[in-house]
This record gives sequence, C-alpha cells and structure tokens, in this order.
Amino acid sequence: MIILRLTGAALLLAAGTAAYADPCKVSIESNDMMQFNSRELAVPGDCTEVEVTLHHAGKLASAVMGHDWVLAKESDMSGVVNAGLAAGAARGYLPQGDARIIAATKVIGGGESATVKFTTTALTAGTRYAFFCTSPGHSTVMRGRFLFGAPTRVAQQSGKVTGG
Ligand code: ZN
Repeated sequence: MIILRLTGAALLLAAGTAAYADPCKVSIESNDMMQFNSRELAVPGDCTEVEVTLHHAGKLASAVMGHDWVLAKESDMSGVVNAGLAAGAARGYLPQGDARIIAATKVIGGGESATVKFTTTALTAGTRYAFFCTSPGHSTVMRGRFLFGAPTRVAQQSGKVTGG
C-alpha cells in the first residue's frame, strides 16, 4: 500500500513539471560559433506578456563573443544594427531610447543567461518581426524570425544549431 502511494506521487510530480510549459515563455541559445540555435521563435497571439531567455552555451567572454537578443520589425533591423554599432560596446551595442527596439537583453558572455520580459501591446499579428544580435558583424548570421500570433511551432525544443 505504501509502495503504491509513493509511486503514484512520483508519477504526479513528473507529469506536473512537463504539462505546464508556458507558451509565452521561450528560450534561445547562443554559442562561441556566433550562432543562435533557432531561426524562428513563435508565441501565441493571446500572450499579453512574453518572456525570452537567452543562454550563452559557449565559454568565451562577452568582450570577445558577446551576444544579445534584440527584437524589432524586420524592416527596422538594419537601422537598429547600425545605430547599435554607433552606440558602441559601452552601451552594449544598443542605441539608447530607440523606439524601434521592441525588446532587448543585455550582452552576455559564455555561461551566462539574460531574460527580457515585454508586453505584446506594441505587436501586431501578421507583421514581420526579426530577432538578432547587435554585436558587430553578428546579425548577418545571428538573426531569425519572430512570429506573434502564429501557431506555436517553436523550434527551440530541438536544441540543434541549423546552419546557413
Ligand atoms: Zn552575437
């Protein structure tokens, strides 16, 4: 009887941790090879708040291989990247008070993580959004699509870095 009860409790605990993954919270990984592990992130349209966590799975310091995660309209991406270059390392390659930036984490180095939380009031379903890294030269490869209001088919689960 005791054994049965314990087994049941263990099963409940295991089910509980797996069943409640919040689709409004997504994570993405970066590495020392100047890559994100996902080229597309998606959150459901009923998320009023989105939380994005960037992990840096590498070992290199932020001064050498620092990454951030920045969200903007696709059409604003190159403008934000250029403004970030002008802002320089001291400002984390992010222009201050730039209204084109919807959300951004700080720049992190190997082994670090950063989370950004933002409301979706500024997002419109059907608009093309892009996420990218504003470290110099990185956005040519460190970029992807951000879908708001699309069916959740987030590629984050694979954990596999897809090339070119
Ligand atoms: Zn980067």
